[in-house]
Amino acid sequence: MKVLVINCGSSSLKYQLIDSETGKALVSGLCERIGIDGILNYKPADGEKLVFNDPLPDHKVAVGNVLAALTNPEYGVIKSLDEIGAVGHRVVHGGETFAESVIIDDGVIKAIEDCNDLAPLHNPANLIGIDACRQLMPSTPEVAVFDTAFHQTMPEKAYLYGLPHEYYEKYKVRRYGFHGTSHSYVSKRTIDVAGLDPDDSKVIVCHLGNGASVSAVRNGKSVDTSMGLTPLEGLVMGTRSGDIDPAIVEFIANKENLTLSEMMNVLNKKSGVYGMSGVSSDFRDLDKAAREGNELAQSAVEVFCYRVAKYVGSYAAAMNGVDAIAFTAGVGENDGKVRKMICEHFGYLGISIDSEKNSIRGEEVVISTPDSKVKVLVIPTNEEYAIACETTALVEGK
Ligand code: ADP
Repeated sequence: MKVLVINCGSSSLKYQLIDSETGKALVSGLCERIGIDGILNYKPADGEKLVFNDPLPDHKVAVGNVLAALTNPEYGVIKSLDEIGAVGHRVVHGGETFAESVIIDDGVIKAIEDCNDLAPLHNPANLIGIDACRQLMPSTPEVAVFDTAFHQTMPEKAYLYGLPHEYYEKYKVRRYGFHGTSHSYVSKRTIDVAGLDPDDSKVIVCHLGNGASVSAVRNGKSVDTSMGLTPLEGLVMGTRSGDIDPAIVEFIANKENLTLSEMMNVLNKKSGVYGMSGVSSDFRDLDKAAREGNELAQSAVEVFCYRVAKYVGSYAAAMNGVDAIAFTAGVGENDGKVRKMICEHFGYLGISIDSEKNSIRGEEVVISTPDSKVKVLVIPTNEEYAIACETTALVEGK
């Protein structure tokens, strides 16, 4: 089945048309500056990238223009919209309501709206994308695939915070975790590639991109993860601080005369390796700066790696052992140096890394040596393909 995968932000819309049988992305692209002016990028797998500058006043026009491009006689890849079997939407927050993907109807939309409070920047934008597709393709089934769903199997001891219980009861303040589609896909591939028993396996997935999180996956189910109520908790990220002493918020706000929302902006957008180094959130830039002698860039990368190693250690403890550790996403897939720096902390686990294997790029590979007590793998994530598969399975009733 051909599935249109949509990831809708407040002024952007990423899309891919994926053949869920072959896994091939027939087209991928991005609409940007929606509501401002409008740029539509369109890249067929077998053709050149095209860029259109028609105005995109809202998301409905953006989706309409994507559909028109897909069916264009010259550069389109399908003859008619009937060839699109379903639309799969990435939805950021499913709260405690959605532990799985779901076919969208009015009730589902209402339930997603009820989670808006938990992801005020993301869920409303996701809903706008859903609404635009429903209007333009009313008879095509649509599926919501949630970033939080995979982590709904976490036990209470992993998701409750040390806060007054009434905040959980009244406002559902708890750990939810994100990147669920990636953690689910990568942990499954890890079990497969490492030859583990799906019903008796302990896997730790390190999703290290601009946003970054670690998950503990026991017998295929998430039992803990580093992001929390929001994606701010856990690892030091590209621009997010990750874990800090919560009292720092008041301390800096007083010193710098900042409001709460200005402080949240600092923690989300101006911190992480970017804020620490003053150089960049991109690990390629940090590596270059560190090689040129920039000590702050060097220490930002060291702090990043140390935090990942601490989370991996705590999840090995939480699961009473670990069979395999997988690296994925932009940094995890591409940066052998960072992987090596992280794995240097794992001598106590009996891990050793094959440096030649660690330099392979772009494929699923076991980077640990044959005698390593724990397998270490690189597994390229493919969230869009995972969304297309979930969507197909639901629509075909499998
Ligand atoms: P997100 O989806 O969270 O935006 P990605 O998973 O695409 O992030 O990761 C983007 C990050 O990956 C970049 O900011 C950069 O730090 C890192 N990255 C990408 N390519 C490379 C590379 N070749 N070497 C090192 N780091 C890389």
